Amino acid sequence: MAVNNNNKLLLITFAICRLIVTVGLTVLPELLDVGLEGRLSVDTWELEAASVDFGRLSRGVPSEVVHPATAEDVARVVKAAFESALAVSARGHGHSINGQALIREKKGVVIEMGKGGSGVRVCEKGMYVDVWGGELWIEVLSATLEYGLAPMSWTDYLYLSVGGTLSNAGISGQTFNHGPQITNVYELDVVTGKGELVTCSEDRNSELFHAVLGGLGQFGIITRARIALEPAPRRVRWIRVLYSNFGRFCEDQEYLISLHGKPGRERFDYVEGFVIVDEGLINNWRSSFFSPSNPVNITSLNADGGVLYCLEITKNYDQENADSVDEEIQGLLKKLHFISTSVFTSDLPYVDFLDRVHKAELKLRSKGLWDVPHPWLNLFVPKSRIKDFDKGVFKGILGNKTSGPILIYPMNKSKWDPRSSVVTPEEDVFYLVAFLRSALDTETLEYLTNQNRQILRFCHGSEIKVKQYLPHYTTQQEWMDHFGDKWTQFNARKMQFDPRRILATGQQIFQFHP
Ligand code: FAD
Repeated sequence: MAVNNNNKLLLITFAICRLIVTVGLTVLPELLDVGLEGRLSVDTWELEAASVDFGRLSRGVPSEVVHPATAEDVARVVKAAFESALAVSARGHGHSINGQALIREKKGVVIEMGKGGSGVRVCEKGMYVDVWGGELWIEVLSATLEYGLAPMSWTDYLYLSVGGTLSNAGISGQTFNHGPQITNVYELDVVTGKGELVTCSEDRNSELFHAVLGGLGQFGIITRARIALEPAPRRVRWIRVLYSNFGRFCEDQEYLISLHGKPGRERFDYVEGFVIVDEGLINNWRSSFFSPSNPVNITSLNADGGVLYCLEITKNYDQENADSVDEEIQGLLKKLHFISTSVFTSDLPYVDFLDRVHKAELKLRSKGLWDVPHPWLNLFVPKSRIKDFDKGVFKGILGNKTSGPILIYPMNKSKWDPRSSVVTPEEDVFYLVAFLRSALDTETLEYLTNQNRQILRFCHGSEIKVKQYLPHYTTQQEWMDHFGDKWTQFNARKMQFDPRRILATGQQIFQFHP
């Protein structure tokens, strides 16, 4: 009884505090008459939640948070914001690193896309799914699996929103074969920076369609995406093999991605890899894979310059080809040059494979290691310079403590539509190198941030023409350099679709003048 009363008292105190803080915060006059089916909020807790992101490196408190119930709600808010030049940021799941979905201006609105909207509707006959822009990929997967179907191209982690990843590209080990997620979209509904709700596709309002894909939220807010589906496999054979020779590792990865477009039995379904400079890491983060029954000891494997490379591949299979899958895998592995004693295999349901990073998330959360600063750096490195990158960065700048996984895998440029807004290196094949690091204290944060700068300086100094993925710059000149030849088009599209530059100002690409 005493406990109940205490709890009640606590709740009442909490509610009063919340009321006191919230009083004085009023709905922006610009949005007073928009008439929403959803709701507007100036609740301090909601404003606070919308003022940080996964990176925990930036902060920006919005004046208001909008929870739209429909695409028309989004259009009403953006129209009102357009008329009064108010900054507006769509927020998917807030998993950006550098404040890309935040409002940094004194006044501005975050449209919280996560809740409400039209949900997920599968069209079995058309082999596509219509998805609300704020929906998470994990929800898309569970809805489509009910029909035995699934999207073809993924990100490693599924708790990201459809609108958020389509604003970047959406890449993973399937990209070499299916292209990034933005290559697998048939149609979009988009609210432009003028507050117009427009349906667009390759054939209809195509300029807007291509602009928005990889467009960093600059041209409109995606309220619906129509995404291509394929029959979902049931199980996955997941294989990791190790290399001590970087040249061999790259040759094999490049060989495997050259098999894109071949029938399923003649290629792997997923090709990724990672760099191991830190033994603790391989037996921990993202990986109950090697340990405890298969612990990896780097020193025993004669790592080249203390560095090992792990190729990660998968083969999907069903009841029908369960008998031939081993033979197909052996046939492919035979052509590779890994350390022969280092084959680690696991077998699991397709969903568990796709949702693998969530398991790591839960582990990190339970240790209080998830909500910490993440000074991540993602680079696309041209194939012709990847060995120089290895020498200068993996075997040079990094040292032997990485503070998080370092992914490396190649992709085929032919699978990226040049009409989209995203930029990639000039060469036919380029690598993603992703430094996915966590900083548990200020000292480490400073150390890793400096190291990121050092890596970028090294690339610049050695004329390795990298492009940042999930790019972060703070001056327009840097953005112009990033887009290169594409800048003129990017700028023209901005003037056409968001002439008052009110959208996604957190990206810091265009100057916002209220
Ligand atoms: P947010 O951070 O909310 O928004 C990102 C940007 O998109 C902002 O500018 C925002 O204004 C804009 N935006 C959001 N929603 C919309 C919309 N509906 N319409 C238009 N613009 C919108 N990326 C990969 O490609 N592959 C990976 O494997 C991968 N793994 C990741 C794993 C983790 C643990 C994390 C944290 C991130 C990962 N990412 C990966 C990066 C991720 O794709 C991007 O950070 C993406 O932007 C996050 O989606 P979000 O929904 O949280 O977007």
